[in-house]
Amino acid sequence: MRVFSGIAASPGIAMGRLCIIDRRRVVVSEYQIPSETVSHEIARLAQAIEDTRVELETLKTRLAETSGEDHLFFIETHLMILADERLVSETSEVIKTGLINAEGALRRTLHRYRETFASIDDPYLRERISDVETVIERVLHSMSGEPADPLPQHEGQIIIAAHDFSPADMLQINRTHVLAIITEIGGPTSHTAILARALDLPAVMGVEGITDLLLDGVTVIVDGLSGNVIVNPDQETFQSSLDRKHHYEYVEYELLKTASLPAVTLDGHTMHLRGNVEIPEEGASVLAHGGSGVGLYRTEMLFMNRSLMPDEEEQLTLYRSMQLAIAPHPLTIRTLDAGGDKLLAGLNHAAETNPALGVRAIRLSLSMPDEFKKQMRAILRVSAAGPVRIMFPMISGIEEVRRAKVLFEEAKRELAVSGIPFDDTVPVGVMIEIPAAVTLADLLAREVDFFSVGTNDLIQYTLAIDRSNDQLSHMYQPLHPAVLRSLRRIVQAAHGAGIPACLCGEMAGDPLYLPVLLGLGFDELSMGAGSILRVKQILRRCTLERAVRIAEGCFAFATVAEVEMYLKAQITMDVAESID
Ligand code: PEP
Ligand code: MG
Repeated sequence: MRVFSGIAASPGIAMGRLCIIDRRRVVVSEYQIPSETVSHEIARLAQAIEDTRVELETLKTRLAETSGEDHLFFIETHLMILADERLVSETSEVIKTGLINAEGALRRTLHRYRETFASIDDPYLRERISDVETVIERVLHSMSGEPADPLPQHEGQIIIAAHDFSPADMLQINRTHVLAIITEIGGPTSHTAILARALDLPAVMGVEGITDLLLDGVTVIVDGLSGNVIVNPDQETFQSSLDRKHHYEYVEYELLKTASLPAVTLDGHTMHLRGNVEIPEEGASVLAHGGSGVGLYRTEMLFMNRSLMPDEEEQLTLYRSMQLAIAPHPLTIRTLDAGGDKLLAGLNHAAETNPALGVRAIRLSLSMPDEFKKQMRAILRVSAAGPVRIMFPMISGIEEVRRAKVLFEEAKRELAVSGIPFDDTVPVGVMIEIPAAVTLADLLAREVDFFSVGTNDLIQYTLAIDRSNDQLSHMYQPLHPAVLRSLRRIVQAAHGAGIPACLCGEMAGDPLYLPVLLGLGFDELSMGAGSILRVKQILRRCTLERAVRIAEGCFAFATVAEVEMYLKAQITMDVAESID
């Protein structure tokens, strides 16, 4: 048995067979081969090594021409590793004796090299394993032909472990087979984590080194509550995890019974609690968890894993099915927020050094006005059948809002000319997720009908913390005084202009933050469906008056630790009082 600890990214506990997918490198599946194809596999290996040699020689010539001879030593090293006869002989031996495919055998060889190198005393020599890895990676790429990589299909109930797993990967998994996800990188507010929660898949992220172990097929427990991954559990651990799983599911079941209770404080203040959704199937879950509509529909998920952007009719059909699923409640549709960690196959995204600061969201939409208007026409058309709101992501200044609104008016005119019905009063909102938008909040509030704070990005950009970087997840702090001051400023600006302040980042779904957000004056919180009932439970035990005092108290402190301690003490006091 071995226990890995990572970051709890999506709640729930699952047990299954481990299936390692190497998304960082080439997707390598290991499988059994019949003995007649052994020589074919060995020939494939030899051919891939030869192709890689040619590739490296070509690269060497090109580099010699462009950057001189000085930097060629690493290619020389790689060519030497490639020329080592043992690479072929040892891998061929694995193919022959294990009857496994060339890729699987090569990965086993790599694993053996890793073990050998790890036992070398000299640190310089020990680290040369990275050169061996690079070379073998190249050979594997050559064998795979295409670097593009649909997910391999699996039978049985499995738990996927991958170095990295993109939102597009998440949308491709077969949910009847996949029980949980483990990744080596990524944080709880990454889009992959958000999707895992949306799909009800337990997930643990930041589990370093799990894909390097040759553990395909072993039993594994993913504990998305504690952040632990247990490989080869013993009987006792298996049983206690099973008990935890049952307990968690029982509490969920009990909470569901409270779904129809109103989201109102003890002193009668209503706060709208809505759901964040990515795919139409989630609409029903929002209602089942007592959400009063959708506060954030991330439409970009519909555009993923396809070579052509969906046309207006197709978008209309999807938005309609979401609307039907949550009727008669309002549906807040966010226009395309592609880019960053959400790349669309149908768009030729230029390679960016810094995608989080690149051509994403509203910048991308404004750069393709016809596609943008197509989406807005589809959104407007849905508005004819029920309450719809539209919002623009990643707004950084007034010009962007005005340009988006001009195109929105054009979309309306185009529909009107064609006699297609829509609601002319669809509220237009902006997401506040860039510090510039916070600074300009008073001016932005005059341009729109509502604000929706995207704390996932706002925290990322305010604190300069990559939301997908597991190394920094401890610094991703919603209670950071800078974040709290930004939130206060946003609400004040919204209310000053007479518009509602909503919040739809992951912060909304954590019950700990509810008193602060309520006390700051937020009118609406939108979160993953699975969080609504827990947040509502706390809301129903609060008074607005007390929440305002708690929120104000937070501003007396200069550090996150102090704010956190203060907040936990307040909540503990409340619990103690309610027991008295
Ligand atoms: C956010 O940034 O908080 C948000 C809700 O949008 P997304 O997570 O899709 O970037
Ligand atoms: Mg965002």
